[in-house]
Amino acid sequence: MCRTCDSRLDRRTLLGAAGLAMAAGLSAAGKAFAAEGPGSGLTPDQALDKLKQGNRRYVADAQSCVMDMARRRNETAGGQAPWATLVSCADSRVPPELIFGGLTLGELFVVRNAGNTVDTTAMGTLEYGAAVLKSPLIVVLGHSGCGAVAAACDVVAKNATFPGAIGPMIEPIVPAALAARGRQGDFIDNTVRENVRRTVAKLTSAGPIIAEAVKAGAVKIVGARYDLATGAVDVFA
Ligand SMILES: [Zn+2]
Repeated sequence: MCRTCDSRLDRRTLLGAAGLAMAAGLSAAGKAFAAEGPGSGLTPDQALDKLKQGNRRYVADAQSCVMDMARRRNETAGGQAPWATLVSCADSRVPPELIFGGLTLGELFVVRNAGNTVDTTAMGTLEYGAAVLKSPLIVVLGHSGCGAVAAACDVVAKNATFPGAIGPMIEPIVPAALAARGRQGDFIDNTVRENVRRTVAKLTSAGPIIAEAVKAGAVKIVGARYDLATGAVDVFA
């Protein structure tokens, strides 16, 4: 058994912890879906600690282990109870399961698109994760050197245009670029952080399901930035 598998023993212990009492409003929302499950049993803070520990493990000794993939496939085939939800960039260098220490099937509920933005489809996915799957944590994860954010900066600074659906895809990031323009420091990196902050704010104001879950303490939302060079995730919002 490798070091990653050893550490998973700790995660299994955590996954068996006492169940999380969900807010009445959120449970009512969840009952609208036939697939409502028991959830992972983790609190929002426990889930965030697990992600931070996983990222420290990845930075210190990056490896992935697939030894128990078949077992996990069998365990999760009948249902899922992911303990964290990610809104992450589609960038091929930012795979959430790997950068958080080699997570496996059934652990993370993930929305990915270029620029880690939240449209109606993403919002519905996040609401499903919170209300039905009872995932206690939502992480909006930007990253250094983001091409989608750089494109939004080019729209603002150079009046750049992009073909097809790429332009409309970048539009939600443009307000962050406008806000970050002129700030001290790197324009693109400042926009990465501003885009994350705005997405976090949007999640708590765009609809009642997540807002009520946050108010009840059943769900926590944080914003973070992944550094492509160091592998470290900085939770800053
Ligand atoms: Zn990106």
